[in-house]
Amino acid sequence: MLVAVISDIHANLEALEAVLEDIDRVGADTVICLGDVVGYGPDPNPCTEVVSKIALACVAGNHDHAALGLTDITYFNVYAREAVLWTRSVLTETARTYLRACPLQDVFKGALLVHGSPVEPEDWNYILSVGDARRAFDRFDESLCFVGHSHVPGVFDLDSRGFVDVLEATELRFEEGHRYIVNVGSVGQPRDWDPRAAYGLWDTEENTFKLRRLAYDVQATQRKILAAGLPEFLATRLAIGQ
Ligand code: ZN
Repeated sequence: MLVAVISDIHANLEALEAVLEDIDRVGADTVICLGDVVGYGPDPNPCTEVVSKIALACVAGNHDHAALGLTDITYFNVYAREAVLWTRSVLTETARTYLRACPLQDVFKGALLVHGSPVEPEDWNYILSVGDARRAFDRFDESLCFVGHSHVPGVFDLDSRGFVDVLEATELRFEEGHRYIVNVGSVGQPRDWDPRAAYGLWDTEENTFKLRRLAYDVQATQRKILAAGLPEFLATRLAIGQ
């Protein structure tokens, strides 16, 4: 089965549509989502509707919970907070109902799905370093865990001797006896200086993973952000991938 793993869409419909076209093109069988469907971007309702229709599994992200009033936003930066308040004001009851039903963690085809980290998922921890990854590996049993949250794609590889490696490759084969934490990057707000939408393709038979990058109409999203009265910075950052 070819599984498309999407994350951190952040209400960016143009980026999501570019990813969906690619998912169609490559013939993925199904889609799973790692949360942050909303927040920052101008299209929270259409993006939630699309995800609710296509994703076989979807876990909740901190921005989804923030939009529902389920998590503390005092630690959010000013742009994120403004976007959360705007998102709350426009989110439909249908979208709320869907997002509220998303669990903090799920297991799909033997892989753990969690937005930030299996270490206290509700605290929205990041896995940025080998140390973070090591602590995270101790907190789940599966050989594979997909995460988002940092908006930076990357792979942590725990070998049978207990060493954790950071893999730079965007294509890899999961090796027997290893365990992996895979960050699939962000569809709607990449932060690795590459503005193209990111998502992952996981082949459950071949045991392979591929990171895909897609250009999309950034300017269209930027115009919508400004028209919605969202902070200008949320528009400018999209063009530089930050
Ligand atoms: Zn996010």
